[in-house]
Amino acid sequence: MSRHQARKRFGQNFLVDDQIIHQISSLFATHTDEHQLIEIGPGRGALTEALLKHNVPLTALELDRDLIPILQTRFSHHRHFTLKQGDALQTDFLSLASGKPMRLVGNLPYNVATPLIFQLLENIENIVDMHFMLQWEVVARLCASAGDSNYGQLSVVVQNQCETKALFQVPPSAFSPAPKVESGFITITPRDEPLIQKEKQGQFNQLVKTAFAHKRKTLRNNLKNLLSTEQIEKAGIDPSARAETLNLNDFSSLTDALTQ
Ligand code: SAM
Repeated sequence: MSRHQARKRFGQNFLVDDQIIHQISSLFATHTDEHQLIEIGPGRGALTEALLKHNVPLTALELDRDLIPILQTRFSHHRHFTLKQGDALQTDFLSLASGKPMRLVGNLPYNVATPLIFQLLENIENIVDMHFMLQWEVVARLCASAGDSNYGQLSVVVQNQCETKALFQVPPSAFSPAPKVESGFITITPRDEPLIQKEKQGQFNQLVKTAFAHKRKTLRNNLKNLLSTEQIEKAGIDPSARAETLNLNDFSSLTDALTQ
């Protein structure tokens, strides 16, 4: 097909497993054009081709300039296809979707996934859902509950605004070149209302980040510049507990203590 060499610095592990490609694209079988479908990192177009079969408008955003002519040759005849070259971390997704509510899909490079998800949370009102292939460890963190070993800042901040669901695990052999780690496919669906009111979200995010800053330290220690021991107790939380044992409601009580 192409002489393009997979580039490590762009996190290029291309999907080569038809069964997995079909499993992903079939999630969009009933997609309608009232929503804008955006694929992040189309690569050589393995998933793009399967998505376009559903005959809905698809905008693809690719960073690697060398892939642009390959994608253009492959799909520009398709009237539903729009291609943009750019960095997802620098992209204004609202204008990319021309103001339409958007659905996002992508086999994301591992170094981009977490900052991108945090960035997308800022425009969550305009997102219908997100479907990402990620490093399995990141999928586990996004879906973890209090007490799980993978539970942390990412779990709490994302689950405040979204429901997360791990759909399936994907072995390295599904990609070329094969990555060193297992991957997983996840659906992230924004909640109608975040658990924490929008006005308090900035403080909540700061509090969660600070609470998890030093994993082995107690809340009393991690939060000492934000809340006194008495304030933590008054919120009904044990100051000698660690952040990893607190659920979203507990973080909500601490945020209330912070904003009272
Ligand atoms: N979707 C293709 C597939 O499944 O075969 C490619 C997946 S590959 C893991 C990730 C793709 O994202 C690559 O094509 C890479 O060039 C692109 N990419 C990397 N960083 C990006 C960024 N910051 N913004 C947009 N695309 C990026």
